Formats: sequence, C-alpha cells, structure tokens
Amino acid sequence: MELREAVAQDIFLRRKTNIDPDRILIVPGGKVTMWNAILMLGGKGKEIIYPNPGFPIYESVINYSGARAVPLKLHSKADFDYDIDQLKSLINKKTSLIIFNSPSNPTGGLISKKDMDKIVNLLEQNPQTFILSDEIYSRIIYDNEDFYSMLAYPQIIDRLILLDGWSKTYAMTGWRIGYGIWPKKLIKISERLNINSFSCTNAPTQYAAIAALKGPQNFVDQMVLAFNKRRKIIFDEVNKIDGFTCNQSKGAFYSMPSIKRTGLSSDQIQNILLYKLGIATVSGASFGKFGEGYLRISYANSEKKILEALKRIKDFTELEKWKNA
Ligand code: PLP
Repeated sequence: MELREAVAQDIFLRRKTNIDPDRILIVPGGKVTMWNAILMLGGKGKEIIYPNPGFPIYESVINYSGARAVPLKLHSKADFDYDIDQLKSLINKKTSLIIFNSPSNPTGGLISKKDMDKIVNLLEQNPQTFILSDEIYSRIIYDNEDFYSMLAYPQIIDRLILLDGWSKTYAMTGWRIGYGIWPKKLIKISERLNINSFSCTNAPTQYAAIAALKGPQNFVDQMVLAFNKRRKIIFDEVNKIDGFTCNQSKGAFYSMPSIKRTGLSSDQIQNILLYKLGIATVSGASFGKFGEGYLRISYANSEKKILEALKRIKDFTELEKWKNA
C-alpha cells in the first residue's frame, strides 16, 4: 500500500489526476500490465489494434492470445504521428482493445494534445473497446513539449488501462518493477492473473521504487538533458550518412532513421553494422512489418560511443557504398 500511495501521489503531481491506490497494481516490470491486458481482452474472435512499428511484445502477445492483430501504421513522413482516419477505419465491433504508446519505442514519436483530443473523441464513439495507454516514457520528452496522458480524459477512464514503471525514468530495468492503473471492472481479473503466476513483486524492489519516487528528482532531468544532447548529435550526424534520413525524435531515447535509400533491407543494414562495424542497432523489421525500411538507434549509451559509432558508419559509406557491402 505504501508504494501504491506513492504512485498515486506521483500521478497526482505529474498527471493532475486523483487515483484511488486501490486501482493500482504493482507488477514485476512494465511488460506484465500489457501481458495481462492483452490476455484478458484478447482471444479468438477479438481484434486488437496496436502501433506498427511498435514495441514487439504487443503483436507477439496478441497473436498468442488468438486475437487478430490489427496494425496501425506509423510513418516517418507523418513524423510517426497516429493517423486518426486510419485508426477510425480499423475499429469495428470485434475491436476489444486499442493500444497507444506515447512517447514511442521505437519511433521517438509523441502524441500531441490536439491529436489526443481527436483520438479520445473517436474512442468515445466506440464504447465497446478498452484502451491500453503505454506511458512508460512519459518523463523523457524534449523541446519543452508537454506530455499528455490519457488519464486526463474522464470520459474514457472507466475503460482505460495505464502502463508505467521505473525501467525508463529511473533506469531501473533490471529491478523488474512497474505498475498498471486498472478500471474497476478489470482489476480483480488482473489481480487473479498475478496471484496465479508470480504472486507478488518482491518486497526489497518495492522499497527501492518508493525511494525512487520520493527521493530527489533532479537527476531524472539531468538524464533527459544528456539524452537530448545525444539526440541532437544523432539527428545531425545520421542525416549526413549516405542513404539515411532521420526525423528529430520527440521523446523516449530512440531515433528511427529511414534507410530506404540504401537499397538494402533493414536486417541487412543491421547485420552489416553489427558484424562489419561492431555497432548494435535494431532492424526496423523487428518492430513489425511497417518497420521495414527503418533502423532503430538507441541513445541509452555514452556520447563518446555514439559519436564513434556514427563516425564508423560515415567512414564506411564513404569508402564502400551499401550495395557492395
Ligand atoms: N513499453 C515499452 C514501450 C517499452 O519500450 C518497454 C521496454 O523496453 C516496456 C513497455 C517494458 O518495460 P519493462 O522493462 O519495465 O518491462
């Protein structure tokens, strides 16, 4: 309860919403909330809409549940914004859940207030569907942009599942701790799934999570400032690489350049970078079929290493064009 109360306080501070701690479930990592939500709302005969390219676990668990995975295409030309007309065209009576992720892994996209209002308007017209808002990167945002949480919309709150945790804001990925805010009608089912699998989140980690929330927060801002510097370096330098075109990301710690002009597939580029140059990136195709033609670069690494990696790629393309690689 002490941790759930600390989460409720944090929600009030950052999302300006009063949440009863009884609606919060502490779980071992962010993934558990999406796993529970998709399992309970998926299954044969159901359809679940999810962002693509997107965090790969969404599609994987939807398929596992037996539901039809319906991708919502995100495109670099649209700055990886959610296409609301496309979303509207995908919703039907079978749609049991729609997944949103802002700021986004892998695109670095961020849903604006204007788009969020439109999305919520559309959701209001479709009361049969639940909503999963994955807000795990909510504190990692650039250019003084504001973060808009789906919790700010009381008209959808009775069918909103919110996912957040400590993995990104506090770099506590290895501690395995996250939380979900659940609608009253689903929380008991989620609790039962938890009791039947992991029982509870280990107590020392819960105390660490309280310390993270109640302790000084200035280092989160310092971390975001460091990410911001790396983000700008990546944007500038990647755009100088032959065949690569990069958008400026707005949140999270990822950039997703298009590599279409190289004439090679995302997997091919990923493997050349890894095996010839010793640079780890992730092929866009790992994030769904609409990720083909892109590459995800993470800037959860030092400025020095990022500069070295980008120099290696640039030197390589000056010597050898991608086609001969
Ligand atoms: N949601 C998104 C969009 C993520 O990128 C991640 C981790 O990469 C998670 C959820 C899961 O985080 P956790 O490590 O806390 O399970």
